[in-house]
Amino acid sequence: MTQSTGRRIFQVIDGNKKFVGDGFDVTSPMPGPRIRQLSPFLLIDHTGPMPVAPTEAPLGTPPHPHRGFETVTVMYEGYLAHRDTAGHTGALGPGDVQWMTAGAGLLHEERHEREFSRRGGTLELLQLWVNVPARDKMAPPRYQNIRAEAIPKVLTANGRGRIRVVSGTYEGVTGPADTFSPITLLDVHLPTGTETTLRLPADYNVGIYVVKGAITLHGNRPAATKQLVVFGWDSTDVHVTATEDTVLVVLAGEPIEEPLATYGPFVMNTNRELVQAIADFESGGMGQFPEDE
Ligand code: MN
Repeated sequence: MTQSTGRRIFQVIDGNKKFVGDGFDVTSPMPGPRIRQLSPFLLIDHTGPMPVAPTEAPLGTPPHPHRGFETVTVMYEGYLAHRDTAGHTGALGPGDVQWMTAGAGLLHEERHEREFSRRGGTLELLQLWVNVPARDKMAPPRYQNIRAEAIPKVLTANGRGRIRVVSGTYEGVTGPADTFSPITLLDVHLPTGTETTLRLPADYNVGIYVVKGAITLHGNRPAATKQLVVFGWDSTDVHVTATEDTVLVVLAGEPIEEPLATYGPFVMNTNRELVQAIADFESGGMGQFPEDE
């Protein structure tokens, strides 16, 4: 038997179930007992697919703070509304990506979009938390609302698979999201039977999260829906074969090799900075929504 070449597979991690606010039925493989982070990626929350019953009062999360990192939301089905105390508002639908920099701090609210709530339907989305280097943790908040049409695609060799480049450069195609450290974020659809070799810099941390479907890696290692596969740094190549109609997200980035201090919605480098973040939030320094003033 020959060993197939390609990045070593370190871990295949199942998600834990949790509910976020009153509107997000989430499976989360990271952080957890088996993995604290896959720097610069800190968290993967996969909502749904979940049924949303028609209602006049959109479900979601109430206003809550963040500082020191970015939230990245990839929409698959349904509609979400966002607003924050830095003055950004937006609605996201299937294929859209929201890349929000909390920076020095803000409050935001994430809810099912009003019309979608009235109608009801199915909701599915991925939210990632992405760390930023120490030098950028107190940057001004930023909001990149990236429409599906603005995200370029690379096709697999047989022309059937579609690799959307959200950030970074993949096979010469550059995605629209601006990032603070080198990150290649890919949203990949592989119909049953499609094979491809994902080539990413060997020194990047690389994970594959299976949103839907099932894959075989390097010809012999299976991974299925809602599993996170974490790879080593011994090769640039990941060989993927879709054994079902599959959607996966490739999380790849240069690791941020700095200390990590986290408390709930704050991601800093030291405990002292966490104490400051909590104090700034409690004194109103991360802003207020107009009706709360
Ligand atoms: Mn949030």
